[in-house]
Amino acid sequence: MLKSFIIAYPWDLVDEGVDTVLDRLHGEIGVSGLSVWASVPPVTQLRLRDVEPRILRTRGGLCFQPSDNFYADTRAKPIVSEWAKTQNPLHVIAAGCAERGLELRLRVSAAATGRLATEYPEMACKNIFGDASKMGVCLANPDVQAYLCGLAGDLLTHYKPAGLVVTDFIIRWMEALKLDLGSRPHHEPTYGALLSLCFCESCRQKAAEAGVAVDRALDSALEAVLGAFGASDDDETLGTILAEHVELGRYCVWSAGEVTSLLKRMTDACDCELLLHRNPGESLWRQSPSIDCSVPAAVVTSVDDPGQLEGALGKEAQRNELSVPASFAIGSDSGMLVRVLSRAGEIGYAGAEIDNYGLLPDAAFTPIKQAARFAKRTTKV
Ligand SMILES: [Zn+2]
Repeated sequence: MLKSFIIAYPWDLVDEGVDTVLDRLHGEIGVSGLSVWASVPPVTQLRLRDVEPRILRTRGGLCFQPSDNFYADTRAKPIVSEWAKTQNPLHVIAAGCAERGLELRLRVSAAATGRLATEYPEMACKNIFGDASKMGVCLANPDVQAYLCGLAGDLLTHYKPAGLVVTDFIIRWMEALKLDLGSRPHHEPTYGALLSLCFCESCRQKAAEAGVAVDRALDSALEAVLGAFGASDDDETLGTILAEHVELGRYCVWSAGEVTSLLKRMTDACDCELLLHRNPGESLWRQSPSIDCSVPAAVVTSVDDPGQLEGALGKEAQRNELSVPASFAIGSDSGMLVRVLSRAGEIGYAGAEIDNYGLLPDAAFTPIKQAARFAKRTTKV
């Protein structure tokens, strides 16, 4: 059976009424569950539901009130979003899901939760020039690792979700995605990946302890990036660069291994399913040596185009799920979502998350309902 979930920000439930939304998800639409954000990056969100404000802005942070004892082992103390400072509706949402038999998932941004990197610049990713990220903390930093394990424990203890969906699970100087690379946009996948490498103190120290010649790796990355802008040869891929520069290649492999070991630590600590969200549309994920998906976590892959379904299926993953945009259920081709979910079930996906509730007009409920039912019927087990 292919399970179906609706992704939602907690304020969308609160502003429309938690019971109203949960009744709709359970009774009217008939999805398996709700996947609600518990720890968010900065968001500027358009809301199509009949709520105010229509544009919601937040600098991000935790969407619930944390219990300090879970963060005793880390200097990274949780930052609560302004929205959650005067309310803690995750309890009501969790209880409402349990009453209705809706499966509850909680969503957490691992590296990019709002304001963490600016509050704790010593824990932020640093690029090859030593520039500290204002968007993301480094997952190799021991305080960040302890913080994430504490966050998982806090959420599991108080809200008892069936699953924890982790996004931004990567060591990356995230501003690389936004850099203007001038007249060489086709270089972005390669040089963007090199520019996104983290050389923070934690990465440097841990990689050196693992036997990597970190200074040589850094020199190679600087040479490759700066050299590219003066060269006419634009055929170099990240693969050829990493093959030429052995220590840089080893540094990237070490980084992927560090993230994988954190994932294992979190799955061991989690008394619920851990789902890793990835977005292959972001070239950096594809180009960098990725984490080992064979650890006991499910993988949820974002698909923006129905043609990406087969390619996005991770053969190495324990279990595959799909994340699709609300636009699949909207517009002239109302059968698209039905076709996508039924095909997903046929080729091996076990679940689908629809992103997100705030962007769903009423007219989308019927196609989602049809898609959820059809997928359950046609899924091969
Ligand atoms: Zn780092």
